[in-house]
Amino acid sequence: MTAVAGIWRVLALAMLMLAGSASAAGLYEARIPVFGSWVDLSLWNVEPATAETAKRVVAGDMGELHTRWHAWEPGALTAINERIANGEPAPIEPHLAPILRRAQELSLASGDLFNPAIGRLVGLWGFHARNHRRPPPAEQIAVLVAAAPSMADLQIEDRLVTSANPAVQIDLGAFAKGYGVDIAIGRLRELGINHAVVNAGGDLRAIGRRGDRPWRIGIQDPFGDAHLASLEIEGDESVFTSGTYQRHFVYQGVRYHHIIDPRTGYPARGAVSVTVIGQSGAQADAAATALLVAGPAEWPGVARDLGIRHVLLVAEDGTLHASAAMAARLRFEQQPTPEMQITRLE
Ligand code: ADP
Ligand code: MG
Repeated sequence: MTAVAGIWRVLALAMLMLAGSASAAGLYEARIPVFGSWVDLSLWNVEPATAETAKRVVAGDMGELHTRWHAWEPGALTAINERIANGEPAPIEPHLAPILRRAQELSLASGDLFNPAIGRLVGLWGFHARNHRRPPPAEQIAVLVAAAPSMADLQIEDRLVTSANPAVQIDLGAFAKGYGVDIAIGRLRELGINHAVVNAGGDLRAIGRRGDRPWRIGIQDPFGDAHLASLEIEGDESVFTSGTYQRHFVYQGVRYHHIIDPRTGYPARGAVSVTVIGQSGAQADAAATALLVAGPAEWPGVARDLGIRHVLLVAEDGTLHASAAMAARLRFEQQPTPEMQITRLE
């Protein structure tokens, strides 16, 4: 080797090491496409090789979750639903039981306002298809409400799910994202990553900190594109929002959205969005849906039952309702700070 080539080799090696340490110390960000949407991964102070592994593992998990738990595209869930509709026990793989059990616990705690057993109602409203255009006949809604499908109708064993009620059709649309974010955080921890955010389109779980400060995240304004407020989170917190603006259609001047009040069979009235901070993605996702159904009058009781302390609810008339704990943490970009109706939960 000539002296010049040798110097170049040493220089190149030094630059490589510099590049490596520079990207290990700081923020690593990656966007993972997941079937028409995406998951954003933010990692703090992680070796590049570990970060790439994390990205690959999380992408694999999310893709699998999507196909497995899709409410209407054929997969494990549609197979279970078909069996239930026929009044037959549904065989399941043992690792599928935990998500159903968790959904069952949370629906019970929410007084069935979060009710993933109402898949037939969601389908009747056309939200299992792209072109949902008009409300279904009132008689058909009434029949499904009277059939009272509930997660409590399910007996979930490790290899078998049985339903006492053939009207049950499981739809994990309000829950799978939260559960998936939890799986992703579990994977990151297995890789020794303790400072991270897994953000699925604004719904996220954050662990640790962003270096010397907490993670900072925005809460979507249901009436506009900007952020309504921001929040600093650290340790292990999940922030989830349910909004009626996510999916909806307008028929004869009336807007119908995709979050159904299981008590009436119609889209929930009163709230346009609810943001909660929970202890896990699963709990926060289920709670955001349940509190959106509960609306401005009933949300505090349901939040207490679900063990949620931080809630921000935007009502149809634009008024803001918040738990005291949440109000204390919100940072508004808008000045003067908008008025909030504050409720003490604890
Ligand atoms: P977002 O779309 O804002 O994430 P959610 O997490 O509340 O909203 O999920 C809404 C989805 O959950 C609907 O598209 C539907 O599939 C299903 N769903 C609708 N109403 C309910 C309900 N009361 N309980 C559980 N799942 C519901
Ligand atoms: Mg939800």
